[in-house]
Amino acid sequence: MQIYWTKINKIIEETPAVKTYLLDCPKDFTWVEGSHTHFALEGFNAGDKPNRGLIRHMSISTLPHENSIGITTRIREQCSEFKTILRNLKVGNEVAIFKTHSNVPLKREDKNVYLLSSGVGLATFRPLVLDYFERADNVKQIHSLNIDSSKDFLFTNIFKSIPDKKFTALFVDNRKDYYEEVKKLAVDKDGLFYVVGSDEFLVQNIEVLREQGIKPEQIMLDKREQQLPDFFSFDLSI
Ligand SMILES: Cc1cc2nc3c(=O)[nH]c(=O)nc-3n(C[C@H](O)[C@H](O)[C@H](O)COP(=O)(O)OP(=O)(O)OC[C@H]3O[C@@H](n4cnc5c(N)ncnc54)[C@H](O)[C@@H]3O)c2cc1C
Repeated sequence: MQIYWTKINKIIEETPAVKTYLLDCPKDFTWVEGSHTHFALEGFNAGDKPNRGLIRHMSISTLPHENSIGITTRIREQCSEFKTILRNLKVGNEVAIFKTHSNVPLKREDKNVYLLSSGVGLATFRPLVLDYFERADNVKQIHSLNIDSSKDFLFTNIFKSIPDKKFTALFVDNRKDYYEEVKKLAVDKDGLFYVVGSDEFLVQNIEVLREQGIKPEQIMLDKREQQLPDFFSFDLSI
């Protein structure tokens, strides 16, 4: 396993509680849209065993041509040790990334794509949308639906409707509106539904989508193949 140590080159305050850390791209490091990585802080591999408290899974919110690896995360006042350390890091500080993989690349199957996310889950979708803007081949259209109760919506410069590009985006701030919208989107029985958020959020979205007749193979989760049965094996008839 290759560990890439790299430096923070910029810190963007996206909203009062959400920051994007832009990291220098190490030579020969590349990734595709929808990737996540293991993001680790100094000292994580100092002992005999890796210190899990200093490692988190994070999506990469940029594309390689942006020349930086973007990590977007919410740091609340009450936060973990990991985020407390991260909050105090500055431009020039070193962090590590390793084991990078995409479970949710953009499927180009001549279908409508629906991106359903909660909060910073939108970070996973930012590169999918940029990839689509660059090359729309075999994607009919994309619609993004994001719920964020803070109302400080993310990446609004990209997630705004552009009819010419067959891209639409909607932000909502409460669950009622969110699931009403999901039901409307699920009228498209042939669409591809990507879902990113907490496990509880995934379970609830899957339940609503399946009730509307959407099949498991139409639902894309940022989970490894072997984790998928945990989300799709429940019996709807119960
Ligand atoms: C494939 C994948 C991709 C991911 N991508 C991203 C991503 O792009 N961005 C991202 O932010 N996360 C992402 N995550 C989730 C990420 O790995 C972390 O689990 C998440 O950010 C929470 O971080 P944290 O554990 O440091 O907790 P925190 O965010 O610090 O806290 C989690 C909750 O616990 C509470 N809490 C924590 N510590 C304390 C304390 N000491 N006292 C009281 N309350 C406390 C907080 O208030 C908060 O409600 C991803 C996960 C996976 C599996």
